[in-house]
Parts: sequence; structure tokens; C-alpha cells
Amino acid sequence: MTRDPRYDILFEPVQIGPVQAPNRFYQVPHCNGMGFLRPKMLAAMRGIKAEGGWGVICTEYCSIHPSADDLPHPYAALWNQDHIKANALMTEKVHEFGALAGVELWAGGASSSNLLTREVPLGVSSMPDLSGNPYQTRAMDKKDIRNLRKWHRAAALRARDAGFDIVYIYATHSYLLSQFLSPLHNHRTDEYGGSLENRVRLVRELIEETKEAIGDTCAVAVRMAIDDGTGTVEHPISEDRREMFEMLADLPDLWDVNVHNYAREMSLSRFFKEGLLEESIHYVKSITSKPVVSVGRFTSPDTMVSLVQKGTLDFVGAARPSIADPFLPRKIEEGRPEDIRECIGCNICYSGDSLGVPIRCTQNPSMGEEWRRGWHPERIHSKSSDATVLVVGAGPAGLEATRALGQRGYKVMLAEASTELGGRVTQECKLPGLAEWGRVRDYRVHQIRTMPNVDIFPDNSLNAEEALDIGAEHIVVATGSTWRNDGFGRYHSKPCLDLGPVEQIFTPNDIFKGRLPQGKVLIFDDDHYYLGSVLAEALVTQGVEVCFVTSENLVAAWGAMIDEQYQAQQRLLQLGVQIITAHGLEQFDGANAHLSCVYAERTQTVAVDSVLLVTARTPNDSLYHDIAGSIDADTSGTSSAPTITKIGDCDAPAIIAAAIYAGHRYARELETDVKESDVRWSE
Ligand code: ADP
Ligand code: SF4
Repeated sequence: MTRDPRYDILFEPVQIGPVQAPNRFYQVPHCNGMGFLRPKMLAAMRGIKAEGGWGVICTEYCSIHPSADDLPHPYAALWNQDHIKANALMTEKVHEFGALAGVELWAGGASSSNLLTREVPLGVSSMPDLSGNPYQTRAMDKKDIRNLRKWHRAAALRARDAGFDIVYIYATHSYLLSQFLSPLHNHRTDEYGGSLENRVRLVRELIEETKEAIGDTCAVAVRMAIDDGTGTVEHPISEDRREMFEMLADLPDLWDVNVHNYAREMSLSRFFKEGLLEESIHYVKSITSKPVVSVGRFTSPDTMVSLVQKGTLDFVGAARPSIADPFLPRKIEEGRPEDIRECIGCNICYSGDSLGVPIRCTQNPSMGEEWRRGWHPERIHSKSSDATVLVVGAGPAGLEATRALGQRGYKVMLAEASTELGGRVTQECKLPGLAEWGRVRDYRVHQIRTMPNVDIFPDNSLNAEEALDIGAEHIVVATGSTWRNDGFGRYHSKPCLDLGPVEQIFTPNDIFKGRLPQGKVLIFDDDHYYLGSVLAEALVTQGVEVCFVTSENLVAAWGAMIDEQYQAQQRLLQLGVQIITAHGLEQFDGANAHLSCVYAERTQTVAVDSVLLVTARTPNDSLYHDIAGSIDADTSGTSSAPTITKIGDCDAPAIIAAAIYAGHRYARELETDVKESDVRWSE
């Protein structure tokens, strides 16, 4: 197939200073939990995006000097000769496919605590560390500024030597340069503070000095926010910021623009729509003749074309859409945009950076596994035999196992108890803000339906005998999990015996089935991720009064890993939900819930009509055990007995990304002799 001519504009080359991008698909810098710690994993991951058609591939933030250190959040680095070699692994991979490689040179300011290097953090002013560590910056003196300029220039030269084509001046995301620009953070009284011209001075110097050092071979890009947080709701872009852009308008070779509010930029689909920044970034093109790139969780080629045609952007920037589908551009080019694995805006990819471990993605199970397991997002080895596989359960684990087994060429039968496919995803995507999560199901169902070797049997709840009677050589059980109604979880390590009348106790499964509590409900969230707060929102919007109790200190505490926590708590407060943190549910007598403080021996009582428990799940593994038991009991000989495996939530309840990964891994490894020792754990 060839591409739809409507999308031709996306494949035009674009000049950026001395280099030319082959098309308009631009992977903006994004963190990945690998950085300088895991250069081989990183190079393989970025290389696959170049293979998938992205015209520009950038690094994550790349430290110019040990005084910019953000561990435990892994970052790239260009401090020395070894780092040049490590980064060259990435640029070589990127160049192999004709793409440009960009590097985002970074100085941390009050956002880098230097826990690894123990260097004193350097700041525009003396101010507390913004990531919450008990440190404060040294206000940079003239010598520090001279040093910074020297380090930046040296890092730019190393970047060129490492093979980069685009070198960034990184002046946003609350790091050092954005603090110099900011009228709020910059309290200096010298020529680097005060007036607009003074605050811009350092950024201007770095642009000029980088151009002078490497501008003949590399493009110099500036990444900057179009607002600075001082505007109003009606006029978010302050006059100060607008003038700043005008002052620098044509100085860089490329503008990479974002917004001051990181939550809007990292826009979780739960709270924000695709293309959110469009309105705010529009004006940048009017003040510069240089190409402009920005992001917006773009996955639709029509939206991309319209942004370019309207003159909003020259490059379609993407971090998450390129993570969920590294082959997004190629799929458009090959005239098959319906094959795009669209990002769902869940931000699980961001948790790798937050936790200091390699990236994972809900939609793309190969993300982060390109090097260590040799997984490719599009290619998979052919089947090893003509065996038939029975997959039981069409949740994310079963769907992904079916899709990947089908791709390998196996004959697959997928049995699902419900009429609808998708398991928990189908249930959860009906909750407020989670509609895009349905893409996990839609992508896989679409792929599976095109496979002649896969048959789907909805409305088929199988028992062990029926499953065995099918006669498949392999049975994989992906029957999911069920939320517990006995209080067991993190807070109660044993079932709670005092939970009152069962008809007044609810679990998320009841809500999914449409069994809603009446009157006032107490949600006990001992899970700490999204579901408790999403259910609170769902119930409030249906007129149910909610008291939200969590054993953690914050609503949706784990959401801090994915930029969800703050917004989840804010949303509940806006909805008028009563919130009680750091308390466990001890007892419910049908009229009153008794709570204990997790810190002190204090109790409180809340009058409620029912309790909704979001605590822990029980794996639905009885089918697996029944089948395994029958196989064990079968004395007729083992040679014809099927293999039996459980995957996903019925094996160990976890996040959707884990179920997708389990399904994919099962399919990859079926009838192979992959051993743990084959995995390249050296990174
Ligand atoms: P996971 O996240 O591991 O994929 P889900 O709970 O999302 O798990 O999906 C499990 C799916 O398995 C559900 O759609 C459920 O209807 C289906 N299922 C459970 N038991 C059976 C069974 N005995 N036969 C067929 N399908 C089943
Ligand atoms: Fe998108 Fe979620 Fe994958 Fe991140 S983890 S790229 S938000 S689907």
C-alpha cells in the first residue's frame, strides 16, 4: 500500500539550520529510565524509532557537567570521552535509518540535587531544591556563570563529536536556564537579573556560543515554554514572555516549545484531551521564521496535517506516541494508519524515570526490551510448529497473547466469557476520563480480526473439561482477577472480620456491573493508584455522596510516579468529596465506619450507608488449577497432554502494562528455548 496523498505534507524534508530532517516526525526529548546508566538499551530503543520513520530522534536531558545530576532519575551525560562513545551508540543507530539525532544539553539548577556527584547545586538564586530534597542552591556568581558557559560549550563540542545533528539549549521545565528567564525565580541584581534583557542574557549567550562552536555542522535548538506561569487564565502568556520570544525570534535554528504547566504538557488522558497546547503555541510561528515543533499526544495523521497546514507547527513533536508506536510514521507512509498503536495517555512510561528503572509502556510491550530481550515492536519470529493454542480470556493479557501468537502464525482460538472483548479495559474505559484506555483493546481486536488463523469465541465461559476437549496443544489461561470484598490488602494483612452486612459492601466489580451504592458511601482505597479516585468521581457524578479514605498520606499516592496524584486529589476536592488520609478502615456496622489513624492511636467514626473496598484482588486461577489438575491426573500418557500456562492478572494482579507484557512474552517464548541467561542484563 502507498500513503494517502493527504498525508504527503508530513513527509516533506525540513531544513533546520545546517541540517535537513527527512520528514516532519520529530521525537522530542523524553526520559526513559535508562540514560547514561544503560546506553546499549537506550541506543537500541532510539534506533528502532528511527527505523520506524521518525525523522528526528532526540535524547533525554543530557547533563553537561557533574554539577547537573538528577539521579535516581537517569539522564544522559556528556561529561567526558566515555560519554561521547556511549552517546555515539545512539547517534549511529539513528543515522543508520537516515534520521537526525538531537541532544538536549542540560543544567539542572534548583531541580538537580546532585545526590550522585555531591557537587553543590548551582542556581540563579539561593533557593530550596525544587524536587523536595533538603538542599539549597548556591547563587551562581560571575565565575560560576563563566564556568557554566564553558561547560556548555565543551559539551556542545562533545555532542558534535558523538555525532549529534541538533544541539539544544534547554530553557524550560524549571531547570537552570528557565530559572534565569523567570521573573519569579530570578532575584539577581547583576546583569543576569532584573530586566527582561538581563534575564535572557544567559540563554542568548549560550545560543550564540553554541552556534559559534558547532553551528557550521549542527543545528542549535531552543526548548522553551510559551508562558511562564505569571499569566492569567484569560491571558496565560504574559507580555514579558512574548517579548522574550520576540527578542530571540530568529536566533536559534529551531524552536521546541512547550507550556509552563508540566501537568498540561504530560497531559494524562484522564484529565486532558489530545492537542491541548495548540491554542497556546500558535503564536510562536508568527514571531519566527525558524521551524517550530511542539507536542500534544498526537496520534491522528489528520490532526498532524491540519497543524502543519494551519501554520501552527513545522514538525509534529511526540514523545508518548513514539513510545506507544515507534513505527507510527512508517504506518502512515505505508497507507495503513489503522495499524497505529495509539498512546492511551496513561503515563506509565513516565514511571520508569520516576522510579529510576527502564521505561515500560502499556500499549507497547517491546518498549525497553529492544536490547535486552531483542524484541522488535513490529517483527516477531515465525511459529515453531503447527500446534494450536487455546487462549482463555480476552482481557489485555489474552488479547495480546492472541495477537502476537497470531502474528507468529499459530492457529489460535480465543474464548471469552463475555459478549464484549477487552476484560478490565472494557470495564474501566467506561469510567470518567478513561475512554482512551479502550485503545488497548481496539488496537488488538482490530489486528486479530485481520488474521485468518485466529478465531474468536465470545460468550464462551469455559470450564476445564471444555477447555481440554478442544484438543489444543497449548492452553493459556488469562482469566483476570476479582476485587476482594473482605478488606484484605496492604492495611489488613488478613481479611477484616468486622465489615457488616454484605449487601452494604461493594467492590469495583460491583460498580462495573452497575450495582451502585445508595446514600453515602465510604471508599476505602488501600490500592493507591487511579481506581479509587476514579470510582469516587464516577459515583459523585451519579449523585452518590462519597467519603474517600486512604491508608496513604495522599489521594492516589502512587500517581506521583506518573504525574497523576496532584490532579487526582485536586479533582476530588473540586467535586466536594470528603477526604480522610492516613487512616485504615477497621470496622463497619452497617451505619458507621470506624477508622484508625496510621500514625497515632486515634480513631474516628464516619456515618455511611455502605463501603466500597479498593484493596486487593484475587487471581481468577481456578480454571488454570482445574486444567493443570486434570492433566496431572491423566494417566493415559503425557505426550499428548497440552501445556498449560497462566498469564496476566490471573497469575499476579498488576497494572495493564504488566498484563500486556505477560501476554506478549508468552507468545514470544512459546515453543522456544529462551532462557533467562539469554537476556542481556548488562545495560
Ligand atoms: P488481564 O488483565 O489479565 O488480561 P482481565 O480481567 O482484563 O485480565 O480479563 C480477563 C478476561 O477473562 C475477562 O474478559 C473475563 O470475562 C474472561 N474470563 C474469565 N474466566 C473465563 C472463562 N472461564 N472462560 C472464558 N473467559 C473467561
Ligand atoms: Fe502512552 Fe501509556 Fe505508553 Fe506512555 S505508557 S506511551 S502514556 S500508552
